[in-house]
Amino acid sequence: MKKERKMEQEISRPSFLEVAFSQICEESSRSTCRIQVGAGLWRADKSLIAMAHNGSLPGEPHCEDTGVGCLLINGHCKRCDHAEHNAKHYAGVREIPGGHCLSTHEPCIDCFRDLVRLKISYVGYLVEYGNNTEQEKEFMKDLCRKKGITLEKFSSEILVVKNKILKRQQKPGGVFTRYCPLGIKEQFPTDWGE
Ligand SMILES: [Zn+2]
Ligand SMILES: [Zn+2]
Repeated sequence: MKKERKMEQEISRPSFLEVAFSQICEESSRSTCRIQVGAGLWRADKSLIAMAHNGSLPGEPHCEDTGVGCLLINGHCKRCDHAEHNAKHYAGVREIPGGHCLSTHEPCIDCFRDLVRLKISYVGYLVEYGNNTEQEKEFMKDLCRKKGITLEKFSSEILVVKNKILKRQQKPGGVFTRYCPLGIKEQFPTDWGE
């Protein structure tokens, strides 16, 4: 009985933040720069607007291409647009009142100003961005206070969350079960993540 309850907990429905953070991690894997960043924008009702990664301009060489590399100036790669910047561009809207921005990395001050302008009210991230100076951090905190923005690091361990989601996807009716026409289940070990 105890074991069944444990199983139930493990495959319980993930929260909005759990799924959204998992999604931007997938997105970050498409990055072409030395630091893989993924970000997304959601409306106040938690519907997704846009998702993006950091990378070069369309048609331009990628930082990771042989003989190219990052264009580093003061510790920032200037070859790439940031993930939050690209997500805003794809969203194509002036404002997302009460919206959410989630990023794998803490936003830089330039992207953060964009988010303030969009009227985003929740900004979440997984990893601290080491390039923000103390002055920039103070400025961001001040903007948060004035504009009523929550800026916070995700409190859960993302690998645990991803494992929880995968387990749910493997339960009967989940996308990765034997009912899946592609038979994907056979590709995963039965003790995945244990
Ligand atoms: Zn780069
Ligand atoms: Zn940025």
